[in-house]
Amino acid sequence: MLVPISRPPLMTPAADVDLAIVGAGAAGIAAARTALAAGLTVAVLEARDRVGGRVVTASFGGHPVDLGAHWLHAGALNPLVQLARARGEPIRRSPGRGHLVINGTLRHAAESEAYGRAFDQADHAITLAAREPRDRALDGVLPPLGRFGRPIAKTLALVSGRPLREVSTKDFPSEEFGDNYFVRGGYGALLARFAVGLPVALHAPVRRIDWSGRGVTLEGPRGTVRARAAIVTVPLALLARGDLVLSPDLPDPLARAVASFRPGIYEHVILNWPGLPLPGADRLTKIQGRFGSFGLMIRMDGGPFHYLELDYAAVRAARGDRAALARHARLLLRDTFGALPGLSVRHVTDWEGDPWSGCSWMVAPPGAFAERERLGVPVAERLWLAGEANSRALWGTAGGAWAEGERAAREAVAALARPSQFHAASAGIMPSGPIERGA
Ligand SMILES: Cc1cc2nc3c(=O)[nH]c(=O)nc-3n(C[C@H](O)[C@H](O)[C@H](O)COP(=O)(O)OP(=O)(O)OC[C@H]3O[C@@H](n4cnc5c(N)ncnc54)[C@H](O)[C@@H]3O)c2cc1C
Repeated sequence: MLVPISRPPLMTPAADVDLAIVGAGAAGIAAARTALAAGLTVAVLEARDRVGGRVVTASFGGHPVDLGAHWLHAGALNPLVQLARARGEPIRRSPGRGHLVINGTLRHAAESEAYGRAFDQADHAITLAAREPRDRALDGVLPPLGRFGRPIAKTLALVSGRPLREVSTKDFPSEEFGDNYFVRGGYGALLARFAVGLPVALHAPVRRIDWSGRGVTLEGPRGTVRARAAIVTVPLALLARGDLVLSPDLPDPLARAVASFRPGIYEHVILNWPGLPLPGADRLTKIQGRFGSFGLMIRMDGGPFHYLELDYAAVRAARGDRAALARHARLLLRDTFGALPGLSVRHVTDWEGDPWSGCSWMVAPPGAFAERERLGVPVAERLWLAGEANSRALWGTAGGAWAEGERAAREAVAALARPSQFHAASAGIMPSGPIERGA
């Protein structure tokens, strides 16, 4: 079993609070910090045995390896970059353009630059298309890019998490990938440091949220928590498939907004390969060969571990079979590097099959981009959805999830300060079971 590198000390939450937060990923941690700073009492209920959600660092032979998020994207927009800087955390700017390997040969900087320019051209075309009134699918707007056309289309599909025909052009340019950072010791370890001292109950899945009364009641196998308001940060894929029951149902148009997204798939094959024949560390290497193109993030944190990126098409082709995906990774690498002495596949992630994530992130198909903002509209001033899917500027990122957690908490703080709100306890509602301290 993979063990997270950091388990921050947490507080035991009370069972009767101002604000309940479901999920201790980036959005949940941000929401809890914001609400506590404003003086609310808070209980965070987390299904897993750890914090961080889709941002987790595991130890592989003593080396920190991120199994989910790894990049802190878009420094200028990303609140986590700003917070990390303010706290003196060991973040470093990612090397700009990575390597380019075509048919087994590492290409010179000039060719890499040409690839980069073609990529910028694609980006520009998408940005222009996004300004048109009609919302088209991404596959219809790419300009001719010569020999780089196919690998660039594949990369765009990879970072989208779905085939390009299923991705809204208007949604895509909102993701700004310039000015990226890494953190020494792993992104998951960083996020865990931000959770130190928060009132989080681990192993505490919420199965049902009743918001029919004046407050909110959250039920799960560990007991019941009552709150004046709740922020739900569980991945939208789980809400859409009904894993968490809301009673009454979410009202329209929020319910329609939840249903309008598609689960994005993006997975990592973690490799240990001290002899990888490419220079440098932290470099995203674009590889083109007989079997198509793929990305390889090399020597993470300067260690002997790398990850190979798997897109929606690869995961679907293998029908989710992890052994088949490991074989697929070896096939791609052998095609590029020939013999693979000393290479071992250490892990293949399965975020889609993970019962507490169900996807890597949520994708807006053509016509649905505006639903991201609708997700943020509160229900009856006591229920908020918050997470990566809400973010127009940084969807699919931990920074976007963090910003949305903060936003929802600020709104909850303001709503609870209004005179119409009351404390659940004052209505005579008592908790039915204590929330125990997390492991
Ligand atoms: C392989 C991969 C690579 C990625 N790479 C990057 C990257 O490089 N940079 C980047 O910024 N982003 C990246 N992302 C996306 C990023 O990880 C997510 O966008 C972000 O972590 C989402 O945060 P969140 O708080 O919205 O959701 P989550 O992190 O999923 O948090 C939700 C929490 O809710 C919990 N939960 C679920 N159901 C329940 C329930 N019923 N009761 C209680 N708790 C529940 C979950 O366990 C989880 O802890 C990547 C994702 C994947 C999968």
